[in-house]
Amino acid sequence: MEKTVNLQRSVDKLPRIKLAKLPTPLQEMPCLSKFLDGPKLWIKRDDLTDIAFGGNKERKAEFVIADAIQKDADVIITTGAVQSNHARVTAAVAKKLGLKAVLVLRGKEPQEYDGNLLLDHLFGADIRFFQESQQQALPVMEKVAEELKRKGHKPYIVPGGASYPTGAVGYVNAMLELLNQAEGANLNISHIVHASGSGGTQAGLVIANKALETEIEILGMCVKSDANQWLTEKIVEIANGIGKLLDLKETVNQKDVVLLDDYAGEGYGIPTPEAIEAIKLVAQTEGILLDPVYTGKAMAGLIDLVKGKRFRKGDNVVFVHTGGTPALFAYRKHFRT
Ligand SMILES: *Cc1c(COP(=O)(O)O)cnc(C)c1O
Repeated sequence: MEKTVNLQRSVDKLPRIKLAKLPTPLQEMPCLSKFLDGPKLWIKRDDLTDIAFGGNKERKAEFVIADAIQKDADVIITTGAVQSNHARVTAAVAKKLGLKAVLVLRGKEPQEYDGNLLLDHLFGADIRFFQESQQQALPVMEKVAEELKRKGHKPYIVPGGASYPTGAVGYVNAMLELLNQAEGANLNISHIVHASGSGGTQAGLVIANKALETEIEILGMCVKSDANQWLTEKIVEIANGIGKLLDLKETVNQKDVVLLDDYAGEGYGIPTPEAIEAIKLVAQTEGILLDPVYTGKAMAGLIDLVKGKRFRKGDNVVFVHTGGTPALFAYRKHFRT
């Protein structure tokens, strides 16, 4: 109890602009649980954080944008894939607070603007494209920043996915929120399952879990192929960066990070058949929409673990719905087979 109060107090000391509609609902998934005949499944609806179709990037944006404004920035520069949820949320939030947004997107400019890209455009973001085979995102963003400085602007660069300590602390806050809800519902959470992409979400959850000394096992489902080692290292680094930011005495090491990479398929942004099936199953049992890049793969992983008897009957497993639903439309061809 005291640990919770102290951790919340440390988080509350950081600059933050409240944007997301919190707490997000924690709901049971009775029909899916019954269908799979395993543990009791719950869902934390971080897809309902409110602004611009929501998602986990909104929790990060509360701290990121506050930091940018405190540093007198007037332009936010960030990066992601063409269907980046992070880019969409960053553009929306920047505009809402009167800042310009430049999105440096990895890939070719598509002929049709769809899903998140359409929304980026709608939010009036300055959208640039770059080829990853030729350049890395950071130097491209730095070049844009130089260009803007020459024009008298004060740019602020947000790393991809806002996965750096300032952003990822949003998931320390999420963990505190979830535990508070669980306590109110007399619920003993055994596992948390979520999609891991750039690592910030998992870093925030894991350091909070460590600081609070819970018994909860956090299972990150990696959505990128061949990423396990570097992503684990990155999660540890971000988690310990959060620890510094919050003045925690606990540290995280690689043993604290469980990242499963059996469900990534061919790679980032390429849906697996199991993910498509999982999206259909959750839509048709619970009426909840997942996404093809992140939560579909994470749910496919959860389903596989239930089938493989990874959980006990009495366990309470919380799936964190991290958002991403606008990408469904851009991936429409995968659903019409
Ligand atoms: C970015 C994202 C994730 C992954 O979060 P990270 O903090 O980057 O690991 C998961 N789900 C959705 C929908 C996302 O947009």
